[in-house]
Amino acid sequence: METSRLAQRLASRFVAGETLDDALRVSRQINSEGIDITLDHLGESVTSLTEAAQARDVYLRTLNAIHENGVQGNVSLKLTQFGLDLSSQACRDNVARLVEQAAGLGSFVRVDMESSEYTERTLQVVEDLHARHGCVGTVIQAYLYRSRKDIERLCALRIRVRLCKGAYLEPAGAAFPHKREVDRNYVELMKLLLDQGEYPAIATHDERMIEQTKAYAAARGIPPERFEFQMLYGIRRDLQRRLREQGYRLRLYIPFGGAWYPYFMRRLAERPANVFFLARHFFRQ
Ligand SMILES: Cc1cc2nc3c(=O)[nH]c(=O)nc-3n(C[C@H](O)[C@H](O)[C@H](O)COP(=O)(O)OP(=O)(O)OC[C@H]3O[C@@H](n4cnc5c(N)ncnc54)[C@H](O)[C@@H]3O)c2cc1C
Repeated sequence: METSRLAQRLASRFVAGETLDDALRVSRQINSEGIDITLDHLGESVTSLTEAAQARDVYLRTLNAIHENGVQGNVSLKLTQFGLDLSSQACRDNVARLVEQAAGLGSFVRVDMESSEYTERTLQVVEDLHARHGCVGTVIQAYLYRSRKDIERLCALRIRVRLCKGAYLEPAGAAFPHKREVDRNYVELMKLLLDQGEYPAIATHDERMIEQTKAYAAARGIPPERFEFQMLYGIRRDLQRRLREQGYRLRLYIPFGGAWYPYFMRRLAERPANVFFLARHFFRQ
C-alpha cells in the first residue's frame, strides 16, 4: 500500500507527503491561515535501536527545520517509535535529546498517547523529562477509566495535556465501552483541564465537545489565549475555518513520512463515510 501511487494519492487527504519538505510546504500554507501546526513523523513500533535512533534524528532535523523556516509549530511523537518496546532507557535518552534541543530553540515536544499498555510508562517518561527540561507535554484519552487521576497528576506538575477521545481498541477493563460514556467523560475532563491545566489542548472534531468547551470557558471567564483547540490535518476544514474566524487558537496535527498506512487506516476506521469518500474519489479517476 505504501508504495502504490493510487494509495498515496488517497492518503494525501490526511498525510502531508513523504518528505520533510512536503511537511514544511503544508505547514506554511496552514500557518498562512493563522493556524499553528504540530508535525508527526509517521512510524510506530520500530524493531531495532538503530531504527529508533534514526527516528530521533528525523525529529531533530524536523525541529531545526521548523525553527529555521519560521514555521509556527512543534512536534508530536510516539514513544514506541523512539524504542520503548526495546529499551526504556534508550527510549528515554532518545526523547531527552529531542526535548533538550526543543528547550534550546524555545520549542515544545508533545508525546502522543498509544494503547493503554503504554500509558503508565509514557507518563513516567514525560514526568521525568519535564522535571529536567520543561517544554514537554503529553496526551490523555477520555475513553480510559484512569484518565481523571492522570490529569490531576499532570496538572499538579504543570505538565501540558492534550485531551482526545482515544484511537485504539481497548479492553472493557480499561476503557468505557460506549461512545456516550466517552463523550460524557470528555466534557468532564475538559472542564477539569480548563480550570486546572497548563495551556490545555482540546483535540476533537466533535462540534458538541467544541461548543461545550467554548461555553465553559466563557462562563468561567477563561480567555481564548489560555487554551487551544487541535484537529487533524484534512478533517473538518469548515470547522477549522470557523474556529479561527471566531478568534480561537487552533493547531493542526500534520503527519508526514513513508510509513503512513497504520495512521491512514485509523482515520478510515473512525468514520465509515471516509471509505465512501475514497471510493467516490477512486471511481472518478
Ligand atoms: C490533534 C489530535 C491529536 C490526537 N492525538 C491522539 C493521541 O495521541 N492518542 C490517541 O489515542 N488519539 C489521538 N487522537 C485521535 C482521537 O483520539 C480520536 O480518535 C479522533 O480525534 C476522533 O475523535 P473526535 O474527538 O473527533 O470525535 P468523534 O466522535 O470520533 O467524531 C466527531 C465528528 O468528527 C468528525 N470526524 C472524526 N474523525 C474523523 C475522521 N477520521 N474523518 C472524518 N471526519 C471525522 C466527524 O464529523 C464526526 O462525526 C488525536 C486527535 C487529534 C485531533
